[in-house]
Amino acid sequence: CADIAMYHSKNSGRNTFNFYNETMEVVALEMHQLIADLQNAVENEEFYLQYQPQFSTLTGELVSLEALVRWQHPTKGFIPPNDFIPLAESSGIIVKLGRWILMEACRMLARLHKEMGAEIRIAVNVSPVQFAADHGFLEAVRDALQETGLDGACLDLEITESAIMQSGQVALETLQSMKALNVNVSMDDFGTGYSSLAALRDMPIDQLKIDKAFIDHILGGGREHSIIKAMLALAKELDIEVVAEGVETNAQLKFLKLLRCDLVQGYLMSKPLSEDNLFEFIRQHAESPVF
Ligand code: C2E
Ligand code: MG
Ligand code: MG
Ligand code: MG
Repeated sequence: CADIAMYHSKNSGRNTFNFYNETMEVVALEMHQLIADLQNAVENEEFYLQYQPQFSTLTGELVSLEALVRWQHPTKGFIPPNDFIPLAESSGIIVKLGRWILMEACRMLARLHKEMGAEIRIAVNVSPVQFAADHGFLEAVRDALQETGLDGACLDLEITESAIMQSGQVALETLQSMKALNVNVSMDDFGTGYSSLAALRDMPIDQLKIDKAFIDHILGGGREHSIIKAMLALAKELDIEVVAEGVETNAQLKFLKLLRCDLVQGYLMSKPLSEDNLFEFIRQHAESPVF
């Protein structure tokens, strides 16, 4: 393939076009290889989870932990989720991977409850593919709760705004089944897609997570500032908890506290932590809170 691309680029004046073709070829091959590697990565124990704390702005308490998957590839090293989740989704591997993530996160939380007696929740990201096409997903949630003895109220299931918007009536029914398991439904990446007020009215949503892209601009004096104020007022009215994601500065934290945004998550308070570091973090936070 590389030879063909070389031949083309030498024999036509339109190098950029051929370079593009060659790049696409390489990317396609790499993707193919990565998908093959993904197939066995669960069994080979190449995945692990990190946990990023979410804090109450009112009390400073650690309220929930977002589980974030990581892949340590045997030869390529660390691969971030934004690079492999889309491949896991297009190949269907996300179903197996998603169940592993759910179980692993619930097991960790059960251990945390037992060892530290802390009343903390766990937030698990649910892929749009799991949400829309994995019919066994609800069963998997029920199993995870049963096996770990956790109450559904300890589990936040994060589903992206776009996944909820795309599947309409089916989404409503799936969310209602989730609510029957007593779990919390969280709308992730809020503010990045088509945000519909009707969805907030009709869908059984317990929490909104405002995307970092939005939080980045709340102090800019632009419209984000007004929109977030209105969003928080609306959420309060509808009894929906709000999490601000990607909080990186003290000025942002101060503003979000002032507006009574319920929870904050971001590098300012803590980066995602390995399990060992998490337990240590919780001990330290109990002695000297991060804010
Ligand atoms: P997300 O669910 O919106 O997760 C939040 C992302 O923002 C995480 O990136 C987190 O590390 C990052 N983040 C949090 N606070 C800050 C901050 O203050 N500054 C910056 N720069 N980043 C911050 P991560 O772990 O790379 O995950 C990226 C995306 O990959 C996630 O977005 C989610 O869509 C997906 N993902 C991650 N873990 C899972 C998983 O277990 N299952 C599924 N289905 N998707 C996952
Ligand atoms: Mg999330
Ligand atoms: Mg998010
Ligand atoms: Mg995101």
